[in-house]
Amino acid sequence: MTPAPVADVVIAGAGPAGRSLARACAARDLRTLLVDPRPHRAWTHTYGAWAHELPADLPVDVVAARGRGVAIARRTHELDDEYAVLDTAALQEHLSDPAVAVRRGRAVGAVPVGPGRHPAVLLDDGTAATGRVVVDATGARQALARRGAARGLDGGRPRAEQTAYGVVVPRAVAARVSGDRLLFMDWRPAHGRPGWPTFLYAVPLDAERVLLEETSLARRPGLAMPELRDRLRARLRAAGLSDAEIPDDPADVEKVRFPVDSPRHRSPAGVVAIGAADPVVHPASGFSLATSLRMAPRLAAVLGDALRGGHDPADVARAARAVVRSPAALTVHALRLRGLETLLTLPPGEVPAFFDRFFALPPVHRRAYLDAREDVTASLAAMTSLFGRLSPRLRLHLIRGTVLGARSVRTEQ
Ligand SMILES: Cc1cc2nc3c(=O)[nH]c(=O)nc-3n(C[C@H](O)[C@H](O)[C@H](O)COP(=O)(O)OP(=O)(O)OC[C@H]3O[C@@H](n4cnc5c(N)ncnc54)[C@H](O)[C@@H]3O)c2cc1C
Repeated sequence: MTPAPVADVVIAGAGPAGRSLARACAARDLRTLLVDPRPHRAWTHTYGAWAHELPADLPVDVVAARGRGVAIARRTHELDDEYAVLDTAALQEHLSDPAVAVRRGRAVGAVPVGPGRHPAVLLDDGTAATGRVVVDATGARQALARRGAARGLDGGRPRAEQTAYGVVVPRAVAARVSGDRLLFMDWRPAHGRPGWPTFLYAVPLDAERVLLEETSLARRPGLAMPELRDRLRARLRAAGLSDAEIPDDPADVEKVRFPVDSPRHRSPAGVVAIGAADPVVHPASGFSLATSLRMAPRLAAVLGDALRGGHDPADVARAARAVVRSPAALTVHALRLRGLETLLTLPPGEVPAFFDRFFALPPVHRRAYLDAREDVTASLAAMTSLFGRLSPRLRLHLIRGTVLGARSVRTEQ
């Protein structure tokens, strides 16, 4: 037996996914409890998303800056979609709802639904928080997944990771590197280092400050932080910045490392996983934030209906899972994972050419690849269109990599 539910919805993890769902549940008068070891920790990540992916009702002050960006590979592409950089503190405040109960604690597992038993989050102090449904929003840690989930079916190979090292500099300083443009990707190897290509991401944080970040989109395992730091410094020096203008103070440095190919969440009965805890992350871009924000109200509506309908707790979680990982979403995710594997097999020198083709796609295909999470037809059309635009050499390489797997292709750091 577990104790009587302390809430309708118990959510482990108070990051963007957990907080947005908690807020949406509270708005539907569901008793909601968030559990996190540091629930009030100030978020520090710089979050960005395509503007059209963000929920229409997001308050304007949550968007710190927006603009049409530029992607530079071998050619320069003016992007026709607006990119938004969020004000992280404003986002956290917007998603923090006093109607949501908060408990400090680290989840170490879940008690599944059983006969006469509600699902619960087990905490490291030996207590449990019981709900009528339990949500895992602990990010890539997947703290509530059944054991063995992290190893998946791939023989324990390392996860593919996005890694990046960035510094925040005054806008006038950044302009000497970026030309005062929002650089979504600049693949030019101005850092002069050989090996797996990385790009510069340059985005305004507000009117005064710009983040300059050397980014490795995906690598298995992720490109090392010292290498990214050295590349960024070399790139900035090559643009004429002095050492004194390149910050080293941790307050002005952002380090990014997260997996982009997390295994499917092996959810115990009565538990549903959201955000980076489930395959909501786009394997090629690493993005999940906008999807989590958009999905929260829909998920809360489904949970509210199922809980008010008096469904069995396992069925409540099942109904919610159907929103997060519908068959269409799983199919698109599998296609995107294929896309990731092919990206990982590219010879380093071919990566910029590949992105030239990607950014030359008609907007409808580009958007579909980045955003059409549940549209199998549109995703397939986008991938087919991209394939058709590649050089015969790249096509052959991708076919070899896809059929024989990433390990068949020699790569270098
Ligand atoms: C520096 C950085 C920049 C990024 N930029 C972007 C971006 O621009 N756009 C984008 O879409 N994505 C970005 N990402 C990816 C980003 O991680 C996710 O999009 C987003 O943070 C996922 O939100 P989440 O709530 O699912 O998980 P997380 O943000 O990882 O939050 C998980 C929460 O769970 C809590 N937690 C962990 N373990 C436990 C436990 N055992 N028990 C209870 N609680 C636990 C953590 O304290 C945390 O509060 C970035 C990542 C990093 C590191």
